[in-house]
Amino acid sequence: MITYEEALRIVLDHARVLEPERVPLRDAANRVLAEDVPSDIDMPPFDKAAMDGYACRRADLPGPLRVIGVVQAGRPPAGGIGPGECMKIMTGAVVPPGADCVIMVEYTEPAGSSAVHFTKRDTDTNICVRGEDTTTGDIVLRRGTRIGPQQIGLLASVGCVRPLVARRPRVGVIATGDELVEPDRQPGPAEIRTSNSVQLCVHIEEAGAIVAYYGIARDEADALDTIVRRALSENDVVVLSGGVSMGDFDFVPDTLRKNGIDILFDSVAVKPGKPTTFGVGASTYCIGLPGNPVSTFVQCELLVKPFLYALMGREYAPALFRAPLATPYRRKKADRQGWFPASVAESGEVTPIDYHGPAHLGAVGCANALMMIPRGVPEFEKGALVSVRPI
Ligand code: AMP
Ligand code: MG
Repeated sequence: MITYEEALRIVLDHARVLEPERVPLRDAANRVLAEDVPSDIDMPPFDKAAMDGYACRRADLPGPLRVIGVVQAGRPPAGGIGPGECMKIMTGAVVPPGADCVIMVEYTEPAGSSAVHFTKRDTDTNICVRGEDTTTGDIVLRRGTRIGPQQIGLLASVGCVRPLVARRPRVGVIATGDELVEPDRQPGPAEIRTSNSVQLCVHIEEAGAIVAYYGIARDEADALDTIVRRALSENDVVVLSGGVSMGDFDFVPDTLRKNGIDILFDSVAVKPGKPTTFGVGASTYCIGLPGNPVSTFVQCELLVKPFLYALMGREYAPALFRAPLATPYRRKKADRQGWFPASVAESGEVTPIDYHGPAHLGAVGCANALMMIPRGVPEFEKGALVSVRPI
């Protein structure tokens, strides 16, 4: 049994970054950038008014200032301003030559028909100086960045309309278990619904992969082999749920080996999810997750997501912060690192959620974080700082 840190290292070390492709900007959302992107312009591209008001010389305040023109956003100013002069200016417009500040319209009052008076003692400059955010050639985004709305906006602003992004990994998902029925069926006396199937598909898609679901494989070597063979031929990664433990009908490890997969580990010192299995083939990868849904969820967070991001060239560093426990915490066995459902309040305090074990999906359903309890630690006092990871 290896530690979580060792398992993560193995998984990341074996991830070969997929080849990149250029895509239209809109399609780059939720993808991982595969190139450094420089700015093709200064930002802002000119000295820009940050407020609606009057562009003038600070030395001339409080005025009166003679209004000699109007500058609209999108139209260059007709000329500059001289001593005792100002131009009415709109937010986003080019500051006319000669002006060194913009006084806000709210702090002016008319002084005759074509002049204004400043009504305050002092003013901010209210000018965004050319190039103060970015100068031409600056790298605005680095390769490995996940592209969200704010990055899409930044790419648009520097004219990067066909960014180079990592190819999305194709992931085949297989559920295993004779007891499983699809969620739209009423389970028979010894059956349960497969919650992992859709949970895994969504969880993996959230990381930016393309998912194909192969249904439920029966606990029978030949049936499993047929599905695994097909999924391997059609995907970069195959993720299986169930069938990796020590039961008489847990055929996943043997099936993977039979299909040329070299199993690099088959148990990790993490609770829940010990029998998590990782294997590598010539051009494919397999991850076998234990069937209990909380184990599946936790291991997908801890290992599957970082691995998928690594295939896309992204170093995934989810937020992990230390927060005080709202109540004491105790557990019977401390032989593994624990990741348990918890609720972090606005005050920053962490409350462990009542959790009955790895089948208790309802406990993660109402959690907003996983709380990490280190290996060898059986208890924490109220107020002790624990590591929490938002989910
Ligand atoms: P296994 O890992 O196959 O030994 O399964 C462990 C437990 O998880 C058993 O109680 C299974 O019934 C349950 N389980 C297995 N697969 C799923 C699934 N797809 N959805 C929900 N529970 C499952
Ligand atoms: Mg099973």
